[in-house]
Amino acid sequence: MKYILVTGGVISGIGKGVIASSFGTILKNCGIQVTSIKIDPYINIDAGTFSPYEHGEVYVLDDGGEVDLDLGNYERFLDVTLHRDNNITTGKIYQYVINKERRGDYLGKTVQVVPHITDAIQEWVEKIATHPVTEDGNKPMVCVIELGGTIGDIEGMPFVEAFRQFQFRVKKENFCVAHVSLVPQPKSTGEPKTKPTQASVRELRGLGLSPDLIVCRSEQAIGPVVKEKISNFCHVAPEQVITIHDLSSIYRVPLLMESQGVIEFLNERLQLNISQIRPRNFMRKWRDLADSMDHLRKSVNISLVGKYTKLEDAYASVTKALQHASLAVGFKLKLTYIEAANLEQQTLLDHPILYHEAWQKLCKSNGVIVPGGFGKRGIEGKMEACKWCRKNNKPMLGICLGLQVAVIEFARNVLGWTNANSTEIDPTTDHPVVIDMPEHNTDQKGGTMRLGKRYTRFKPETSVIKRLYGNVDGIEERHRHRYEVNPQYVSDFEAAGLKFVGQDTSGQRMEIIELVDHNYYVATQYHPEYLSRPMKPSAPFLGLILASVGKLKSYLNRGCKLSPREQSDNDSDDDDLVNLRIASDIKEKVVIEAEEK
Ligand code: GLN
Repeated sequence: MKYILVTGGVISGIGKGVIASSFGTILKNCGIQVTSIKIDPYINIDAGTFSPYEHGEVYVLDDGGEVDLDLGNYERFLDVTLHRDNNITTGKIYQYVINKERRGDYLGKTVQVVPHITDAIQEWVEKIATHPVTEDGNKPMVCVIELGGTIGDIEGMPFVEAFRQFQFRVKKENFCVAHVSLVPQPKSTGEPKTKPTQASVRELRGLGLSPDLIVCRSEQAIGPVVKEKISNFCHVAPEQVITIHDLSSIYRVPLLMESQGVIEFLNERLQLNISQIRPRNFMRKWRDLADSMDHLRKSVNISLVGKYTKLEDAYASVTKALQHASLAVGFKLKLTYIEAANLEQQTLLDHPILYHEAWQKLCKSNGVIVPGGFGKRGIEGKMEACKWCRKNNKPMLGICLGLQVAVIEFARNVLGWTNANSTEIDPTTDHPVVIDMPEHNTDQKGGTMRLGKRYTRFKPETSVIKRLYGNVDGIEERHRHRYEVNPQYVSDFEAAGLKFVGQDTSGQRMEIIELVDHNYYVATQYHPEYLSRPMKPSAPFLGLILASVGKLKSYLNRGCKLSPREQSDNDSDDDDLVNLRIASDIKEKVVIEAEEK
């Protein structure tokens, strides 16, 4: 097993995750199986109880792990399925060590950060690195480990010390360090400054880790003179300095890294046995993806009606899934965030300008997405958005809470149950159309939802969403919720035109709704965004984009294919765009155990 540790210097938030994923992408393209570990040095056991305002979205894995959103980057870039243990936190390590102490495993000893915590970190990394992350079940050969935060943070110290020891434990040819640092280019001087990078490399060395690669992030491209300077001052050869400036899309990052000799360096340093001769179409898919992204002429306007709209990372996977689908259809995504509460009547009274601005944005969009969320704020505004889409034949995709509000809105305004609500919002409502799932109703907050990958069976009769998924019997997608549609009311909804076209195996748990006689009014209880991949867009998202640009019907009529004319409109000749592969785990004949209910 070969390890690439990716550390950060100067400041966080400069794309360390994308760079770490790009190392994996490049190696994967050389035929090497890659896995990854993200280390978050905070004390939380996992990301489950985070507010999206703290750290961005909570990413959910197949196994129900609620993890840092960087794991989403790895899954999307490497097209792998990670395990909850691929996200290590200080909390998890301490919990593991404390449990061992209680069991008596260290009987008679004083349990300390060094060696007990540092040993636990090394054991954890060694164990999870070998865990297969692809369907073929093969053991990965390279593990990219991203250490969150920046070098010098107090919380990160035990991890840095653990890796200082680890480099000797696994031997030099199996371990290398890539340090991602910022090279600021202040407007006043106009030239790139290398001092912060020098300081952070010095700090890293002081802690016993020497960088094998220094990846310099900058706004504008950095010339050879500055590269040379970093090489001199940081005591590395010039080919060990990689420069990554701001690019037109993240798909260009692996390409730029590859062009600077990263493969040759890693091949030699880690003895990877990669052939010197690259196939002619080496990394072609990524190049095509980046090129088509740069050459999109037409755009599609999508409004996201949410609650955490001030931090874009709060909807990271939803945004990515929209981008994948738009790119597949050949449109540039123009995403507008609308604060749901601003669509509410109360805002008209308190802040009329905000109200009118929000409605103007909504009305101007070609399609609307109502993503997941928790709690009361903005709920009525989300319902307003659903109502407007429903009545105006505007394409709408609801996700999780988005499905629940669509159901409540329909109950109130079509079925006439004016007080209908979810028990999450109003526990005493006389029409509880969305109720809490009994088995997930506990006092504890972390890890107590219905989480991870579950099966959804389509109803036998056809539906748009079933066709989008390729007319299969069922699919598997990831979940994260505590409430569900009350099965007692299903027949009322269906009689009025709101169909529940996908359910769990028991038939009691509603997974997908679709409104009859509408352009596209679909919502899912699961979160399809987590399984969307750059080259495999997610079916519900694809449906939304196709409907928003008026191509859904022709796409379905052509047997789920885009016409070549639509392709040439955007100067793309990639066959993969014609025959779209749809994300999610599609199950033709699945034997699965009945769900818990
Ligand atoms: N709050 C809702 C529930 O727990 C929706 C959750 C979500 O959107 N992820 O069921």
